[in-house]
Amino acid sequence: MADTLQPLRGTKDLWGTEAQQFSRIHTSLERTAYLFDATEVRTPIIETLGVFARTLGETSDVVAKEMYVFQDRNGDPIALRPEGTAGVMRAFIHAGLYDKLPLNVYYSGAMFRYERPQKGRQRQFHQAGMEFLGASRALSDAQAIAAAWAFLKDIGLDTNALRLEINTLGTPPERALYQQHLIAYFENNKDQLSVDSQRRLHTNPLRILDSKDAADQALLKDAPRLFDALGDESKQYFAQVMTLLAALGIAPVHNHHLVRGLDYYSHTTFEITTTALGAQGTVLAGGRYDGLSVMMGGKPVAAIGWAAGMERLALLMPEAAPAAGHIAVLALGTAQEQTAVLLAQTLRNAGHCVQVYTGDNLGKILTKVVKRNARSAVFVGATEVAQGIVTVKDLQTGVQQTISNAQLLSVV
Ligand code: ATP
Ligand code: MG
Repeated sequence: MADTLQPLRGTKDLWGTEAQQFSRIHTSLERTAYLFDATEVRTPIIETLGVFARTLGETSDVVAKEMYVFQDRNGDPIALRPEGTAGVMRAFIHAGLYDKLPLNVYYSGAMFRYERPQKGRQRQFHQAGMEFLGASRALSDAQAIAAAWAFLKDIGLDTNALRLEINTLGTPPERALYQQHLIAYFENNKDQLSVDSQRRLHTNPLRILDSKDAADQALLKDAPRLFDALGDESKQYFAQVMTLLAALGIAPVHNHHLVRGLDYYSHTTFEITTTALGAQGTVLAGGRYDGLSVMMGGKPVAAIGWAAGMERLALLMPEAAPAAGHIAVLALGTAQEQTAVLLAQTLRNAGHCVQVYTGDNLGKILTKVVKRNARSAVFVGATEVAQGIVTVKDLQTGVQQTISNAQLLSVV
């Protein structure tokens, strides 16, 4: 039995304050979404494999190595969602919501990737994200990034300790051309590339750009730059995004090596990173994915979005102010239970947080109540019940008073 009680590798049980951090993140997401006129979308956790395999790219790390895939009882290939965007786009096309564009949506929930678990990296993790659908112009990129920034601020993160990196991937044809230059450059230096990058050279060469390997990094210094391979329109688009961000007081760093792991991105791509979490420094990542809807069989929908890793946000969050203590109602015997639950009910109806304790050993219960940070104790003993009174002790000041039941609400 012992082994089956252990949560699966890379998954976690969350209790109390840890679970509450996720709710706080969700509340910040809702507040930010309201400001940007975004409404919530909830899509299924399971999708047919094709939703991700085709859209994320067969060679992306997520599809090639990390996806949870199984056959259901009917033999159909099913995937646990590894990210949110493809499911949202599937749902959008399925519902045919084109006349609702521009449509801003937000979501949060569990995602699954078969990875080596470490701090800030799990197999079941959670993302909070926003998608701006029907958003074709640079101002949408700037607003999507502004929304991400506002969200992190609302959570209470110190934005001075965060770094916003941005890049442009241009259009798919520009990128295809650039990939040729990049492959040619690395072919000439192939023996110096890391094993991982050699494998990616012909499957996903752009991923070499964000390799953490020291030898790869050295080679990258002289590699051709994607930016130089872009046409004027793409360059102007990027310049306009930067101008609008500057006007909003947001100053990203242009990182020429920033690429996304998923295939459907174009133009703007961005990441918000921290140095506080070691290797798992990216807390939020996003970009433009104009090609996704057509790739999935829908009509063209220009779109940009982002997703933040909630575990990583939780690690960076300031502690919540401790909740005000509860009121402990102590039923000092079976005969007092009815009065105790009724008094508890009265207190709850007035909006108080109440826990009812029972037992014969008053000292023992009281110790427990104090340990659990109750702010006051209401004693319901045999004498009290007989006379319609209660004894209330303020556990902060130690002041104790005996009052009629009717006065209870005025003293707690
Ligand atoms: P990484 O480079 O850390 O693997 P990624 O590029 O795979 O990230 P995305 O697919 O862009 O990540 O997902 C967006 C965010 O989701 C990441 O920036 C990170 O905060 C979070 N994230 C991704 N994978 C995990 C994971 N396995 N555990 C926890 N958080 C994750
Ligand atoms: Mg990853």
